[in-house]
Amino acid sequence: MLREFRLTKIDDYEEYIGSEAVERIRSKAEELQNAHVAHINSTYYGGGVAELLSSLTLLMNSVGIRTGWRVIQGSPDYFSITKKMHNALNGAEINLSERKKDIYQDVVYGNAMRNHLDHDFIIVHDPQPLPIIRHYEKKGPWIWRCHLELSTPDDGLWEYLTPFIEAYDAVVLSLQAYRRKLDTPQVFIMPAIDPFSIKNRVLSENEKDERLAHYDIPSDLPLVTQISRFDRWKDPHGVIEAFKKARKEIDARLVLLGNVATDDPEGDEVYQSLLDEQSDDIIILSQQDSALVNALQCRSTVVLQKSIREGFGLTVAEAMWKGTPVIGGNCGGIRCQIEDGETGYLVDSIDEAAERIVELVRQPEKAKKMGERAKEKVKKDLLLTRLLENYLDLLNGFETRFLLEGAPKASGECD
Ligand code: UDP
Repeated sequence: MLREFRLTKIDDYEEYIGSEAVERIRSKAEELQNAHVAHINSTYYGGGVAELLSSLTLLMNSVGIRTGWRVIQGSPDYFSITKKMHNALNGAEINLSERKKDIYQDVVYGNAMRNHLDHDFIIVHDPQPLPIIRHYEKKGPWIWRCHLELSTPDDGLWEYLTPFIEAYDAVVLSLQAYRRKLDTPQVFIMPAIDPFSIKNRVLSENEKDERLAHYDIPSDLPLVTQISRFDRWKDPHGVIEAFKKARKEIDARLVLLGNVATDDPEGDEVYQSLLDEQSDDIIILSQQDSALVNALQCRSTVVLQKSIREGFGLTVAEAMWKGTPVIGGNCGGIRCQIEDGETGYLVDSIDEAAERIVELVRQPEKAKKMGERAKEKVKKDLLLTRLLENYLDLLNGFETRFLLEGAPKASGECD
């Protein structure tokens, strides 16, 4: 017999946001009933964008907006180029040859041919699919949603991407601090977490025990954890160094859990570079297991996210939601989630990270109070319903212009 399927509904959020907010969201969605929306990104798992889209697209459907999710396909050399672009938008150097530009644009053109996008609204995520807009006649607004930290992008790359970006009707960035000089209107929306996903839902103590036991993670010592894609901007070597310093003063065990997204060809190399550091008290795992992420975030005394660049850093909000204090790198979106000394700590160096690890492991009562405040912060500002409402406002804002005046032509459009 077919079992009954059930997806999260907006009403389920009432316990967190109250009935008034649920009603408000429902009425904003009224104006968009049956609108057809497509999100496009470059990986179906691994990394924050895929995490967001898997929940957001379902919640948008549940309020009556017909929302789809397309993932572009690409050859390994395409993903190697887009990862270099990702790094250069984070501030690294790039040798942007004509050959690289051709591969980038050819792969995107192939995806444009395959995808037949004629939706009322199209939301393109990050630089990988960005030029796809050039190959369509607009039927409705196109939005470019960039999740990266854009404080110091490579000038040459930014100049190359700008005509593609300016073909869009709006650009969404995570923070005001990332605002760029562009002709296109910019909107600022922070990401958010889904409290009902396997990663964030309440687990029983048995479920947590079972997940940790499954990966042979002992619970005899306090756990210090970082959970991130294997990516140099997440500074995994810095995490290990900070832990080793702290370990001289406290008993604790480090767990470094990571995964490799399909659009990130550098991940395996970063993972391999860490393996020599494994020991009795440093566990390094490459696994894709959301329940394990959840159990670790719950059971850790402290979670680290010692990034050097971070567009937002969903892992921070995820750990805070479990009432676990986070020591975060003082950069990008981490700064907007953690109030230093109140809901976690912001650190600028390995030494500072080590000191804060020692402090929180030695003072569990202080860590617990900090974690409680952190959870409140997520409940107030970082749940998925806030993100949904931001998108509803954005899409509703377009409606009049497009329906009454007709769609403007994309400025970077090919003949
Ligand atoms: N993640 C995961 N398993 C891992 C490492 C990361 O499921 O081993 C998830 C993590 O829980 C979060 C997302 O991947 O939901 C990472 O998002 P974030 O915004 O922190 O960073 P990004 O990878 O997008 O740079």
